[in-house]
Amino acid sequence: MAEPRIAVIVVAAGNSSRMGGDVPKPYLMLGGKPVLAHSLERFASHPAIDRLLLVANPEHSKHYDPLKESYDLWVVKGGETRQQSVFAGLDALADNPPDWVLVHDAARPNVSLALIDRVLEGLSSAPAVIPAIAVKDTIKLQGEAGVQTLNREALRAVQTPQGFHYAELLAAHIAARGKEYTDDAAVCEAAGMPVLLVDGEEGNAKLTTPEDMHRIGGAGEHRIGSGYDVHALIENADRPLMICGVEVPSPLALDGHSDADVGLHALVDALLGAMGEGDIGEHFPPSEARWKNADSADFVAEAMRLVKARGGAVVNADITIIAETPKLMAHKTAMRARVAALLGVKESRVNVKATTTEGLGFIGRKEGIAAQAVVSIYCQGMELVG
Ligand code: MG
Repeated sequence: MAEPRIAVIVVAAGNSSRMGGDVPKPYLMLGGKPVLAHSLERFASHPAIDRLLLVANPEHSKHYDPLKESYDLWVVKGGETRQQSVFAGLDALADNPPDWVLVHDAARPNVSLALIDRVLEGLSSAPAVIPAIAVKDTIKLQGEAGVQTLNREALRAVQTPQGFHYAELLAAHIAARGKEYTDDAAVCEAAGMPVLLVDGEEGNAKLTTPEDMHRIGGAGEHRIGSGYDVHALIENADRPLMICGVEVPSPLALDGHSDADVGLHALVDALLGAMGEGDIGEHFPPSEARWKNADSADFVAEAMRLVKARGGAVVNADITIIAETPKLMAHKTAMRARVAALLGVKESRVNVKATTTEGLGFIGRKEGIAAQAVVSIYCQGMELVG
């Protein structure tokens, strides 16, 4: 036969209830573009594929309309179930039917060109081709008579894209009307069509929960914050010298409203900066009596609460203390451990450095100590999408 004409139906009409949030799953951002765009891109770039059809919920048009600028996309209104949505796509193709059709879940962004090729190759010898992978976990069947262990060797987890000879899939769907099947291969099995299995791919996983977005796609974003602080060194203070949450033995101490921990203040400003949350003075005004002699560890805790509220986690923090006196070398290890504990990360994710200004300026004259901090934060994205 001449080159087969091939259409792809991408199904994106589901309500993605397990994902939560306001944006439907196919349109969540994954690595800088909507989940759906990843698979559209693969299909659009495959030389054998003629037509891309998206079965979607018209209420999601504000999400899928922008995709039409990048892809030659034909959008068809979906049905109430996945099976009805696929049928809507098949029906839309009926006036100018393709030879073969691939049916793909929008929630599988990592479909590869090699996998598409395997499915298409299978279609030259079978009317229905589905990618499948071996099952790694032992599967139990919970029946009325108790629990039974299934033979894992014989089990396969199926994926999409599933490929079909168009006319036969359309006929099978018409025959299946009124009955619900979980995928198109099941529709074909019910119609007595032989189904060929080809190798699927572990990476071609389906996004179902927010954790999947994180695991599969790294759906979030990295944010950076920087902080800087200075406090004056004073004699005869009635407080210890605190730097990065560690008491440093010294006849001098830092002056300030709170405990004046210059290292933690720079760190807090870096955390707030990464989150777009202003600065330490806005959150803990020196004009408020309740912050008098406050433990700066409490400021870090509040900044971390804001980080976590956005689904964020600290990737790493790097703090530089700039001081002529006291010598800090012996305290850096304790500072690193303390900061790591306050941020809730391993010590390997924290670095504390100490330097001098070679005797220059107010720091060189031992009038004060400065600190700089840089933090990197990874936000899982769900809160930042939009
Ligand atoms: Mg300060």
